[in-house]
Amino acid sequence: MTALAAGSAAAAVYFGVVLEYFKTLPCVFYTCLGIYCPGCGGTRAVAALLRGRFLESVWYHPIVPYSVILFGGFMLTQGLARLGVRQIRGWKFHNWYLYGAVVVLVCNFLIKNLLLWVWGITI
Ligand SMILES: [Zn+2]
Repeated sequence: MTALAAGSAAAAVYFGVVLEYFKTLPCVFYTCLGIYCPGCGGTRAVAALLRGRFLESVWYHPIVPYSVILFGGFMLTQGLARLGVRQIRGWKFHNWYLYGAVVVLVCNFLIKNLLLWVWGITI
């Protein structure tokens, strides 16, 4: 019960204070150079994912749902395997998780800036 209250309080602080504060901070990279940085959209992606809007989160920054899926799957399967569920074998770490994250970051950076430069589409 205490954990539920603490989680609710943390969520209220996150949505009420932290998100509102970060919405007002402009990206320094974008402000100075006029292009998106590799992390632009990350906060909005987290906010969208916490509100259950998966596709919106992918649009803002695909590294967030990518990380949540990999981390969630890893932790869930490892947890079930350690609890003794015999049918579940925990996911193992592979380097391609990191290579995939780099590919997602680079593709997101290139596509978002291409959309901005060529068609003026902003995120
Ligand atoms: Zn940025």
